[in-house]
Amino acid sequence: MDLLNTLVDKGLRRELPTREEALAVLATSDDELLDVVAAAGKVRRQWFGRRVKLNYLVNLKSGLCPEDCSYCSQRLGSKAGILKYTWLKPDEASRAAAAGVAGGAKRVCLVASGRGPTDRDVDRVSKTIEAIKEENEGIEVCACLGLLSDGQADRLRSAGADAYNHNLNTSEETYGAITTTHTYADRVETVQQAQAAGLSACSGLIAGMGESDKDLVDVVFALRDLDPDSVPVNFLIPFEGTPLAKEWNLTPQRCLRILAMVRFVCPDVEVRLAGGREVHLRSMQPLALHLVNSIFLGDYLTSEGQAGQTDLDMIADAGFEVEGAGTTTLPRHRADALGGGCGTQDATAGAGCGSHDDAGAAGCGSHGGGGGCGPCGGHGEQEQQPAGGVAGAGESVPASRTDAARTDLVAVRRRGAGTDLAPNA
Ligand code: SF4
Repeated sequence: MDLLNTLVDKGLRRELPTREEALAVLATSDDELLDVVAAAGKVRRQWFGRRVKLNYLVNLKSGLCPEDCSYCSQRLGSKAGILKYTWLKPDEASRAAAAGVAGGAKRVCLVASGRGPTDRDVDRVSKTIEAIKEENEGIEVCACLGLLSDGQADRLRSAGADAYNHNLNTSEETYGAITTTHTYADRVETVQQAQAAGLSACSGLIAGMGESDKDLVDVVFALRDLDPDSVPVNFLIPFEGTPLAKEWNLTPQRCLRILAMVRFVCPDVEVRLAGGREVHLRSMQPLALHLVNSIFLGDYLTSEGQAGQTDLDMIADAGFEVEGAGTTTLPRHRADALGGGCGTQDATAGAGCGSHDDAGAAGCGSHGGGGGCGPCGGHGEQEQQPAGGVAGAGESVPASRTDAARTDLVAVRRRGAGTDLAPNA
């Protein structure tokens, strides 16, 4: 297929595909799917070999958010029966993080619900970062606290944070239909503040919220312009009690096409399979490892993932290996540009060249990422739904369905951080 040969050549050179090429990936047929995965897999192996980075989420503060992100189980007015608790103490967060590290995670993602941190919140998180770093030598820490105010990124960096996550989530054109309490521009600004402070930027998307193929390509191209070091790709978990609860629009095949498109557009960036993988990819999860080089281990912010040991078995069975703590995640040209923040030893396949050329390794999903502030649901396969088709914040909008509801696969998190039960890692 000429399209795939072209995309592989471009990916190996870190050359940006055209929008038409990215759209064409999303429009491929099921008959072509394995060819698409194989082609994007070549690009993945060029920059990341067969390594899989494990990340571990710690939800520092859960629920009761004043913002109205439609996809989120922690949003204003959410009726989802999630855990609700205020800030974990540094030693509690450190214990939760240690479980993930023991399971093989090399990055801990500290997430808190809310519009953004107060300066007092930044103090608390700084103490938590210090506690985690003291207990776990060499661990990377990513903070995900919402919109940042002036100076807060610098303070987090000074406290030892390696990365900051804040997702764009969807295209600029459709953002206002998903959230009304802050803007797309606010999100872009926070990612840029993190980068300016020397933090490795992590910023990604949520697929399945009713967006069109064009929206997906728009947000991935916008991310490429922002140049984060990692891009988490979430698939909407349609939580009961949120406006998008009925949006079951993703198939495993659709998810694989989306991941392949992200890999072609961001060839040398850590592409992370985030919230919703168990729910939407199901038994096809191992194929996604040919596209992404990073996943979350165990549970998400407000939902439970498959057992941590099952994650590890899946990686081994598919012929991949968990990335060790002494290995640099990013290709050398990106790690060097970051200046040693997130892992800098070496192990990178295919050194040289650089499309993006910036800083370090990835973080967790902002709000929206890794499961808790989960994604919302889309309008299905290869559909060119106009922006107005996206559900408005606070309302439930019917959409064409391409996948049956699998509410049986959505389990609210009842263990780990904020509970007395052992975490899943
Ligand atoms: S995604 Fe973040 S900001 Fe939005 S409602 Fe959820 S916790 Fe609040």
